[in-house]
Amino acid sequence: MSIQDNQVVSFHYTLTDGDGKVLDTSDGREPLDYLQGHGNIIPGLEKEMTGKAIGDKFSAVITPEEGYGLREEGLVQSVQRSQFQDPDQIQLGAQFQVKAGEEQRIATITGIDEEIITVDMNHPLAGETLTFQVEILAVRDATQEELSHGHVHSGDHHHHSSS
Ligand code: ZN
Repeated sequence: MSIQDNQVVSFHYTLTDGDGKVLDTSDGREPLDYLQGHGNIIPGLEKEMTGKAIGDKFSAVITPEEGYGLREEGLVQSVQRSQFQDPDQIQLGAQFQVKAGEEQRIATITGIDEEIITVDMNHPLAGETLTFQVEILAVRDATQEELSHGHVHSGDHHHHSSS
C-alpha cells in the first residue's frame, strides 16, 4: 500500500540540521504515527511521504519554508521582568508555551537584563534546513473517528487537545 491522504503512517526517523547534528530521532523509541494529509507533520515531509510504501527508506531535505518557517525578527520581543508570573521561569534557554492570537507558540528566553527579558517566539527550528532519514514501517487506512478528529488514535493512547 503506498501512502496517500487519509492513511495512518508509522515511521522511524532521524532528524539532522544543516551541520549534520542529530536534533531528534525515534531510534530506540516507538515509531511515530501520524495521519497523512491533515497537517500533522511539517508540509515538506508530508509531501515526501506521498507515494512511499512499507519498507521504503529514504532521506528528505526540507527547506525552512516547508519546515518550521523562516525566522521572523518581529517574533523576538522584549518583556518586562514584572510580566512573568513565575520568576523561576526566567532562565536563559527556558522554553514555555505562549498564545499568540489563535496560535500556540513555543517561546524561548534568549536574553536576560535587569528588568528586560528577551523572548524569542520563533519555533526553535525556524530557519533551519532539515534532513530526515525515514523508514516506513506500516501504512493503514484511518478509521472514521480518526478522520473526523484529524489525528491518529493508537491503542490506549487517545490524546485529545481542544478539538
Ligand atoms: Zn481524537
